[in-house]
Amino acid sequence: MSHLMNTYQRIPIAFVRGEGVWLWDESGRKYLDALAGIAVNTLGHGHPRLTRVIAEQSQRLIHASNLYRIAEQERLADKLAAISGMDGVFFCNSGCEANEAAIKLARLHGHGKSVDNPAIVVMDKAFHGRTLATLSATGNRKVQAGFEPLVGGFVRVPFNDIESVRQVAAHDANVVAVLVEPIQGEGGINISSLEYLRNLREICDQRGWLLMVDEVQCGLGRTGQWFVYQHAGIQPDVMLLAKGLASGVPIGACLARGAAAEVFKPGMHGSTFGGNPLACAAALATLAVIEEDGLLQNAERVGALLLAGLREGLGGTPGVREIRGHGLMIGVELDRACNDLVGLALEAGLLINVTMDKVIRLLPPLVMNESEARQVIAILVPLVRGFLAQAPAAIAARA
Ligand code: PLP
Repeated sequence: MSHLMNTYQRIPIAFVRGEGVWLWDESGRKYLDALAGIAVNTLGHGHPRLTRVIAEQSQRLIHASNLYRIAEQERLADKLAAISGMDGVFFCNSGCEANEAAIKLARLHGHGKSVDNPAIVVMDKAFHGRTLATLSATGNRKVQAGFEPLVGGFVRVPFNDIESVRQVAAHDANVVAVLVEPIQGEGGINISSLEYLRNLREICDQRGWLLMVDEVQCGLGRTGQWFVYQHAGIQPDVMLLAKGLASGVPIGACLARGAAAEVFKPGMHGSTFGGNPLACAAALATLAVIEEDGLLQNAERVGALLLAGLREGLGGTPGVREIRGHGLMIGVELDRACNDLVGLALEAGLLINVTMDKVIRLLPPLVMNESEARQVIAILVPLVRGFLAQAPAAIAARA
């Protein structure tokens, strides 16, 4: 009997080693990783510079506490500020913690404006984490069910629909912030229009709301810019990062700008492990490799190749609803549930994911090269075609 709590429906494969975009299981079988631990392994597996930095830092110092200055944390905050245009950074250990920090920051901002019951506009199909506040902000009943009473103070609107935000602005004086994933990841690779992001910025400016972008999954180079909001030419007030920031070492960050960066005062928020020297050294190495190896350009180029290859191979196929993506964040939406494709792809030596039951999701490491991307296409296209040809009508009817 396993002593692990039953929180995951695990696939019975254990990976023991990785190199670049390749993983090996216990039996020595090799797999192509087009998922990167769900957008975590930015530099792939076993990156020599990252492993060297982690080894050296762990020998020098792993943890001392935020009671003291942490040089690596200060350097990482400087670097993040430089690439994002933000002013202040709070470090934590995960995406949900980064979102929690933002929710607390927004409430403080609201109270600072004498709003007694501050509320945050959130989106349908959003995913912000599994703590009580972040699952309440999440727009998916499956994530919330059983955990009621939910945390209040969220006003939900349809994603990518600026009119509904304008309606809220006109009628709800309690709103103090908007929280949005510029590209929804768990929600099915839903890409907000750049115009929508610019309009959100405008509404926030008019109302004195904070524009808070959750770039935990879509940020950090995946779309060819460091952050998705940079494609829109806007600057948020708050941004959340985690997942790929240290290429696999747990870290999260809540970045803020201007007055929002001054909201937290000593004692208001904290995290024992947040911004420890080990995680910060790994993040600094990750950012340095992204920069020095041109991984932003690589993400754009290889992502475009993947998208074009999938469109060529699957576009127009009955059962394929839409193939969408930006850089190395790609979704193929089918007209039926396709969770079985994860196992079929594994049998074919490829790691993918399916989200919202019908969307095949690819989030490869940023180090994937063109030849590896062609191998992804060569495996995935016939697999999806075969699945659609054979999937029984019953599956389609159920979906
Ligand atoms: N925000 C987004 C956009 C995410 O995709 C996720 C995780 O998938 C989270 C927040 C939560 O991150 P974590 O699982 O590190 O708490």
